[in-house]
Amino acid sequence: MAKRILISGGAGFIGSHLCTRLVQDGNDVICLDNFFTGVKKNIDHLIGCHNFEIVRHDVIDPYRAEVDEIYNLACPASPIHYQHDPIQTTKTSVYGAINMLGLAKRVRAKILQASTSEVYGDPVIHPQPETYWGNVNPIGIRSCYDEGKRCAETLFMDYHRQHNLRIKIVRIFNTYGPKMVAHDGRVVSNFILQALHNKDITIYGDGSQTRSFQYIDDLIEGMIRMMNTEDNFTGPVNLGNPVEMTILDLAQKVIELTNSKSKILFLPLPYDDPQQRKPDITLAKVKLNWEPVVQLEEGLLKMIEYFDINHIE
Ligand code: NAD
Ligand code: UDP
Repeated sequence: MAKRILISGGAGFIGSHLCTRLVQDGNDVICLDNFFTGVKKNIDHLIGCHNFEIVRHDVIDPYRAEVDEIYNLACPASPIHYQHDPIQTTKTSVYGAINMLGLAKRVRAKILQASTSEVYGDPVIHPQPETYWGNVNPIGIRSCYDEGKRCAETLFMDYHRQHNLRIKIVRIFNTYGPKMVAHDGRVVSNFILQALHNKDITIYGDGSQTRSFQYIDDLIEGMIRMMNTEDNFTGPVNLGNPVEMTILDLAQKVIELTNSKSKILFLPLPYDDPQQRKPDITLAKVKLNWEPVVQLEEGLLKMIEYFDINHIE
């Protein structure tokens, strides 16, 4: 049956893919966004659909609507953007969570929080299971994002315990794909743009740090499956691709796939940059019957094609 669904941060990278999928499935979708990092172009193709509407709104302020489900994604995700105005980032995570939870409580909607692998900080347990409490610097330059997201998880769990709200928490690991904002500093988009223009590939540090990269379609499937789990299952659940690689390997893979003449340039490692990250997805396999199906090479080729066809400079 069609549901009324609110997606905060719906004009962003992940949000726009989620809007597309939920509109295609026949739901009535409200995309709520303040367009800080999101762009209308991401959701252009949905404008005019009878079951889609856009609302310009900042989640720092309360919002009212009659909805059945809420996906709370509003928050800049790339280090450049979330460090641009760190106080605003914490407010977005914390007040945004309070406002979206308040709305969910009022209309008894089910609500899903887009949390992050950053709640594990610079992890000393590897790979990271959901039971790991993390290793987060509370006073560093990444803290506005990490601690904001940790506090949001706390609020979600407290609304569940105190008000019996139906909540879901997913911890998203590095995700890439078409519609990522060019020049927002994230590694996959940076490397692809640099390679397509035969510019130096900028590796921060010696490139030995690891990440695990998930293609957007796998994430969207996992998020929707999580929303549809039984009411008493809250998570958190990790959603990520457990195939781990070094940043140097990623750079070499992108150069190879683009047939680029780019050279590798080593630059200083940013402060507090996590050394390793890899999800343990046992829980997602059991509870959601989910695991990623898109291989890195296949996903990178789709993203390269998107950046190439759209002449993204
Ligand atoms: P994004 O920056 O492309 O999208 C974020 C969206 O939120 C944008 O449309 C932005 O305009 C909107 N937004 C920001 N502040 C807002 C506010 N105060 N009020 C209303 N809208 C606001 O980032 P993304 O990669 O699509 O990330 C979406 C969510 O997923 C974020 O919550 C992020 O923390 C989480 N996440 C993403 C990744 C990833 O690899 N992309 C990993 C972990 C978690
Ligand atoms: N990185 C890099 N070159 C770039 C951009 C990022 O070497 O041009 C590194 C960054 O230092 C980090 C990793 O790639 O170690 C992933 O960075 P990103 O910002 O994409 O995600 P996060 O650090 O939040 O996982």
